[in-house]
Amino acid sequence: MSHCDWDAIIVGAGPAGSALACRLGPQRRVLLLDRAPRSPLALPRIGESLPGAAAVLLQRCGGFERFLVAGHVERAATVSQWESSEPVWFDHLRDPNGPGWHLDRTRFDADLRAAAVAAGSTLIDVVGPLRVLRGAGSWRVECDAAVSEQRAPLLIDATGRNAVVARKLGIARRAEDRLTCLYLHLPADPGDEDQCTRVCVDRNGWWYSVRVPTGQRVLAFHLDADDAELRALRVPSHLLAKARRLPLLADVLPVATDEAVQVRPAGSAVLDRQAVARSAPGFFAVGDAGLAFDPIASQGIFHALASAESAANAIERSDDGGALDSRDAFLEEMDSVHVHYRDRLRLTYAAPAQYREWPFWARRIGNSS
Ligand SMILES: Cc1cc2nc3c(=O)[nH]c(=O)nc-3n(C[C@H](O)[C@H](O)[C@H](O)COP(=O)(O)OP(=O)(O)OC[C@H]3O[C@@H](n4cnc5c(N)ncnc54)[C@H](O)[C@@H]3O)c2cc1C
Repeated sequence: MSHCDWDAIIVGAGPAGSALACRLGPQRRVLLLDRAPRSPLALPRIGESLPGAAAVLLQRCGGFERFLVAGHVERAATVSQWESSEPVWFDHLRDPNGPGWHLDRTRFDADLRAAAVAAGSTLIDVVGPLRVLRGAGSWRVECDAAVSEQRAPLLIDATGRNAVVARKLGIARRAEDRLTCLYLHLPADPGDEDQCTRVCVDRNGWWYSVRVPTGQRVLAFHLDADDAELRALRVPSHLLAKARRLPLLADVLPVATDEAVQVRPAGSAVLDRQAVARSAPGFFAVGDAGLAFDPIASQGIFHALASAESAANAIERSDDGGALDSRDAFLEEMDSVHVHYRDRLRLTYAAPAQYREWPFWARRIGNSS
């Protein structure tokens, strides 16, 4: 089989992979692989928010001007019933980094991919499984879309929660909980002018609802995968009825819907750091593939961009494009992000005192397994 040589192969062109390709592309030969666009595995994205602090990371990727006119909507206030039944308002306008945005995720990902290609990276859509091998000092990737074998000293897993490459290398990924998100997109309603993000707690999970840039309203409930109610809540009318018991949500929700309920794993998960450290030189995992956040943190995309920036810095620091010492420094940085995140997450879940004894909440504050 013929082969193609690259300096880096990045698998996954979501925010993490594309951001890394933007950073490495100008100086290196970068191959960016993603699943073919119309994959049946691809669920509609929920519609995420991005904090204002991400602006500096987007600027480093190039294309920030494009981002500003791409239809992402500035975040308005968040109103939450979390610590008590009293609604608490938080106005993102007071954030010194700016209010941040509700993203049009399809557009956001497409623009970052385009920026990666403009920065010199080659993007190939793959169909079917990848084969990943290590031999003669380089990584080798075979896929059905490319007739030749792709080789590079650097291999980056940016495949999101699936961590496809890491799993192929036998690196374990530890799920820290069984959080699952049920969500549906309600059709745009001209009478719905509410711009706030509404967040509230329930006995067996937590809710949020917000209008996304398409004008649709997302309604999302987060509960444990082993919750006996999960099956029933996959029926749209049941999910909506449960949400409408809560006054903060009833105000903005319709009385009926036929929209399908989507289900996504949403819990915290982390790649085994020791196993990554033991893997052959030049392997990195960025974004959700390395560390996936609970959506209550609203940190996933920021982390995708920030971990790509850290990996780019580590790669640039090493003369041979992936020396172990610079990877160790990267892994240490990711460890400290993880420790800080775990501490904050526990405090967040400890706050709703009224539900502390219920399994969903007790599990998250260490009172039960
Ligand atoms: C319910 C929910 C709500 C969320 N809300 C927020 C929020 O408000 N704010 C926030 O910042 N984050 C939020 N997140 C997290 C956010 O969606 C992720 O953190 C973010 O998408 C991670 O980016 P990534 O590039 O690491 O992975 P992904 O976005 O998952 O991208 C992975 C890429 O890899 C590709 N890929 C996968 N497998 C293969 C393969 N075998 N071969 C080739 N390519 C492959 C995929 O096609 C995709 O393009 C939320 C997550 C969930 C589940």
